[in-house]
Amino acid sequence: MAEAREVRTTCPYCGVGCGVLAEIAADGTTTVRGDPEHPANFGRLCSKGSALGETLGLEGRLLQPEVLGKPASWDEALDLVASKFSQAIAEHGPDAVAFYVSGQLLTEDYYVANKLMKGFVGSGNIDTNSRLCMASSVAGHRRAFGEDIVPGVYEDFECADLIVLTGSNTAWCHPVLYQRMLAARRERGTKIVVIDPRRTATADECDLHLALDPGTDVLMFNGLLAYLVQAEKIDTGFIRDHTSGFDAAAGLAGADAPTIARVAKGCGLAAADVRAFYDLFAGTERTVTVYSQGVNQSAHGTDKVNAIINCHLATGRIGKPGMGPFSVTGQPNAMGGREVGGLANQLAAHMDFADEANIDRVSRFWNAPNIARRGGLKAVDMFQAVADGRIKALWVMGTNPAVSMPDASRVRAALAKCEFVVVSDVTRTDTTRYADVLLPAAAWGEKDGTVTNSERRLSRQRPFLPPPGVARADWRIVCEVAARMGFGDAFTYQTPAEIFREHAALSAFENAGGRLFDIGGMADLSDEDYSAFAPRHWPVLERGEQQTRLFGDGRFPTPDGRARFVPVRQEATAFSVDVDYPLALNTGRLRDQWHTMTRTGNVPRLMAHAPEPAVELHPADAAAHRLKDGDLAHLSTRFGSVRARVRVTEAQRRGQAFMPMHWSGQFAARAAAGLLSSPVTDPHSGQPELKHVPARIVRENTG
Ligand code: SF4
Repeated sequence: MAEAREVRTTCPYCGVGCGVLAEIAADGTTTVRGDPEHPANFGRLCSKGSALGETLGLEGRLLQPEVLGKPASWDEALDLVASKFSQAIAEHGPDAVAFYVSGQLLTEDYYVANKLMKGFVGSGNIDTNSRLCMASSVAGHRRAFGEDIVPGVYEDFECADLIVLTGSNTAWCHPVLYQRMLAARRERGTKIVVIDPRRTATADECDLHLALDPGTDVLMFNGLLAYLVQAEKIDTGFIRDHTSGFDAAAGLAGADAPTIARVAKGCGLAAADVRAFYDLFAGTERTVTVYSQGVNQSAHGTDKVNAIINCHLATGRIGKPGMGPFSVTGQPNAMGGREVGGLANQLAAHMDFADEANIDRVSRFWNAPNIARRGGLKAVDMFQAVADGRIKALWVMGTNPAVSMPDASRVRAALAKCEFVVVSDVTRTDTTRYADVLLPAAAWGEKDGTVTNSERRLSRQRPFLPPPGVARADWRIVCEVAARMGFGDAFTYQTPAEIFREHAALSAFENAGGRLFDIGGMADLSDEDYSAFAPRHWPVLERGEQQTRLFGDGRFPTPDGRARFVPVRQEATAFSVDVDYPLALNTGRLRDQWHTMTRTGNVPRLMAHAPEPAVELHPADAAAHRLKDGDLAHLSTRFGSVRARVRVTEAQRRGQAFMPMHWSGQFAARAAAGLLSSPVTDPHSGQPELKHVPARIVRENTG
């Protein structure tokens, strides 16, 4: 019998990036507990993380490649993928193919997929489901700081006197961070303000809840900036010495939101509550503003991000203990994807396509003369191109766009119509049914590589189980396709450590320009160092030496070294409610589910929290529609219709509805919230407006 052992790894669910100790007993059973030494969680785990050991079964697992639904060998499947992609490129050019990848991929997987598409296929058409998660924060950071950088670290939550949570149900979506915030509240009296249209579990435990009207965040923070100016609570020295553009941003904020009364009216709030928040912010030096999908998933998400950052720049509250704007990511490796350039508008190592010198530098580093010279299609546009027939061959890696993309019925139609679809994944999903070729990928517990969490901390995911059947690591699958397409010399990696070293070396190589993203200090990690890798923040400039909190010196990675205020104004949501669609529908996550439930849906105790999808309504709206708690109803938007049970709750404001985003055809027929969502996107980030779509509800006629 094998000996019991313990493996140190990282939770695969959310951007908190908790350390996990997997304990494998002599009989092979695995239990997990929080890693007390991991600085993201210090031993804590949430309900999802603590159930990881129950997700390791083979139910639904892909164990063997399939071609047109029939079992195939790896050689047959990979030969077909390579020949179909090569044929599409030869006949229609490199932009006729695309990869749609995932924040579930490890950084090494992401790196090789990006290198293949941008470096060797010669197209920018690789985008990721992280586009749906944090692209507006990326765009907002670049506008304000010159680079996509989260300035703060989790310790800031513990030394803040005020935490503003806006568009973030932290209690359910980033539970371990929320536990750290509540500990600060208990131990040092940290105040918590929640800005969210819903009374979420997070709002249940706060000092002040501002249930603003959906989509009015810019007005709220423009009003705050105007108030700070009027109350002379700005840091004029910081503004003068370390920023640019203050007058334009403050001027527009003042015109947009001149008085508290105007803000309160525009946001649907009591003026006293708005004033209470503004006074708290104005009077509390150590303030962190945390934002997440409620801000990002909007047709004006980037402006919302910059409205928040403007307030922190105006008060000089950035880069110092307990201060700063703080975007938290949904995906476990959304940040890792950003680091390697896994977004269509990025090139590699935090570079974009705007600078020809970047492109030439990466081309030389990869020895890739055919490198893409412009960005590719972002997620929503990519699936439109599939629908239009412009993309002939699509490879979906580790994600389920048939459920998670907005206007999902259009995405399903596009997948059905596409000439050639490859899906590499761990389990069967709603998307795998559209695949011409299915490739079985290794899962958490089998994968080996790195991830980066929301505070820029790299950690290892380590394997402790063999992949079942003939499943393989994603990076290896990509390399084998690359070799068959004739690019084998650039994809000779035998281990993830080799890929990581190249990724780190590229970041140092490009850093001739002095950019902040740099992990060159890890370019010569030995295999043993990589194996023993302890969590650390980037940048890593000298061997192993990390920088934690950034911008404390008031220097920013813009050409003039100054942070930029961005003038923004409140804009309407993409669609307004009307007589046909009178409810504002919001979508979001539940405490115990992850994404489209491909893992958490198999754990009975997690399913027990919310066994079926429900649309939440205010009692007055329920009564107006002759609905009562538990009724079945049809919820429709201009984009689709689903059937769900009604849950009547005072947590919803009148005129608004909420539906969880997790369910799919696999778990509840016709209940995917993606079928309802609008594909309208933010013009800067390409992130869709998943938090607001007009809807109507009709009671099901049960006879
Ligand atoms: Fe995993 Fe996130 Fe829960 Fe931590 S908070 S255990 S990373 S799901």
